[in-house]
Amino acid sequence: MGYCKNLPLPGAKLMQFFASLGLIFSVLNIWRGTEGWSYHYSTKTMDWEDARNWCRQNYTDMVAIQNKEEISHLHNFLPKPNKGYYWIGMRKTDGIWTWVGTNKRLSKKAENWASNEPNNGGNNEDCVEMYIKRGKDDGKWNDMSCSSKNTALCYTASCKNDSCISGQGECVETINDHTCSCFEGFYGERCEHVVKCKPEDITTPHHGSVQCSHPNGNFSYDSQCEYLCKEGYKIKGTSVTRCTSTKEWSSRPPTCEFVQCPELTEPQKGNMQCHNPLGKFSYQSNCEFVCKEGYTLGDSSSSTLFCGANGHWNASQPYCKIVKCKPEDITTPDHGSVQCSNGSFSYDSNCEYSCEEGYKIKGSRTTKCTSTKEWSSRPPTCELVQCPELMKPLGGTMLCHDPKGNFSYQSTCDFVCDEGYTLRDSSSSTLFCGITGHWNDSQPNCEIIKCKPEDITTPDHGSVQCSHPNGGFSYDSKCKFSCEEGYKVKGSSTTRCTSTKEWSSRPPTCELIQCPALENAADGLLNCTSNFSYGSMCIFSCAEGYHLRGASEISCTETAEWSQETPHCEAHPESLVTEVTLGVAATVGSSGLLLALWILKKLRRNANKFDLNSNSETEDQPQVYKNSISSLI
Ligand code: CA
Repeated sequence: MGYCKNLPLPGAKLMQFFASLGLIFSVLNIWRGTEGWSYHYSTKTMDWEDARNWCRQNYTDMVAIQNKEEISHLHNFLPKPNKGYYWIGMRKTDGIWTWVGTNKRLSKKAENWASNEPNNGGNNEDCVEMYIKRGKDDGKWNDMSCSSKNTALCYTASCKNDSCISGQGECVETINDHTCSCFEGFYGERCEHVVKCKPEDITTPHHGSVQCSHPNGNFSYDSQCEYLCKEGYKIKGTSVTRCTSTKEWSSRPPTCEFVQCPELTEPQKGNMQCHNPLGKFSYQSNCEFVCKEGYTLGDSSSSTLFCGANGHWNASQPYCKIVKCKPEDITTPDHGSVQCSNGSFSYDSNCEYSCEEGYKIKGSRTTKCTSTKEWSSRPPTCELVQCPELMKPLGGTMLCHDPKGNFSYQSTCDFVCDEGYTLRDSSSSTLFCGITGHWNDSQPNCEIIKCKPEDITTPDHGSVQCSHPNGGFSYDSKCKFSCEEGYKVKGSSTTRCTSTKEWSSRPPTCELIQCPALENAADGLLNCTSNFSYGSMCIFSCAEGYHLRGASEISCTETAEWSQETPHCEAHPESLVTEVTLGVAATVGSSGLLLALWILKKLRRNANKFDLNSNSETEDQPQVYKNSISSLI
């Protein structure tokens, strides 16, 4: 294919061309035979096949007819042949009418059949002739046998390869001539000129560059310029501009603006500090993120973000999340409980421990989740409330009941003093260990019971001696009373300090020892010293003819008894009688002075030797004497 329109039918463009000229026929006559699109016909007749070959050998091809103007031109131009009419370039192929030059089927619109045609007269009428100067249906078509004889109608194309500038326009056939139809951006008779745009309209932007390509000459139609920005800058505007057919660039030069990254926000519970060498959140900006106390950057967060040349941050927007402490570090102590301020166990949350009644916290009562993800203190323990240890009191016993532990909360201790001891006035007999770890009273003590010393008085004519095994005049102190000679104790001679703080008995008195009173016997004489009290001596004497039976002298003993039976006077053996008589005679008959001396001598002897029983004269049975004495009295 060349750049000339090498078609048998110039078509619509040709028609427009004719219309603009107005005077079609006269011009066609003038151009006839000149170089360009032209028609030719044979002087001989031939069948359709020969006619086609003849046209192709001598001209371009057989004529194909497509419009009325061309038909009119041919009708005027061509002479009436001597025989038949003119073959045209259409043939039936496989039953379909086809233009042989282009191998295109005949469209309904382009049909130009004479009336009652095509009638396919029953003789394979597969070729087409055109009536010229027939007088009826002139310019119309008739189908007829291809072997019929007709005049060949040919044409010659005007366009050559170099009729128009290659690539800038195309050659269009006109009747007897051709013309160049310029492509967009080109002009001139052969489309040899190209539209130019202003080179000065292409400016290099700041922070950028421009590169142009010129397929049709510098800054000419279809020149393209591409703007580029340096790293970190991006084009604002259109990056590519093109020189259009209107001598204008398709767009104004763009500018290079620094790349903008998406805006970052300060995280909740954190701070953001940005360094912006070019512009806020722009290329080369870097932002540092710091979380407030108790918060840390989210797992996927970077602490510093850089705005890259591609307009993206190197990481996603950081966020701060609250610090969490381990919930498993909060353990409930034995005999205790724990309550936390909220279920999150996060920064600043509190847990408060408490112990059951009777237990006290050892350790910290509260713990707090710190910013280091650690609890401020370890869980405390609950320890049994402990009271101070109590002692068994001296002189007493202690019996404790410990439901929880020794000397612990709810322990009770009973104190009992041994006999002779009593709880000190201020002491309680039972102590109870309270919830505060204190006993309800002080340690009880047993103290020795004391009796009143002033209750121990020395009796007249007596004395007292005390022994104090437990200290002076205290429990079990004993006192022994004794009386002077001649006196006897009346009452209890001993007393003891009892557990009732009382002496077992009142102090006794000392009473004079008194022997029974003696009387003169009928046959005798009684002479006594003192008044029958302890130590008094009585001397017995009998009348003449009587002799004394028993001791002549008796004395009052400390047992308030007489030392011997009271003697009596008997009238018995002579020796005895003589003696008595002598004695009595001496007494009665002679001098009383003699008798007095004798008695005094006897008394002395008795004082020296108190034991009357040793007297040989009193060896007889005491019972007998007793009876005798009683009879004497
Ligand atoms: Ca026919």
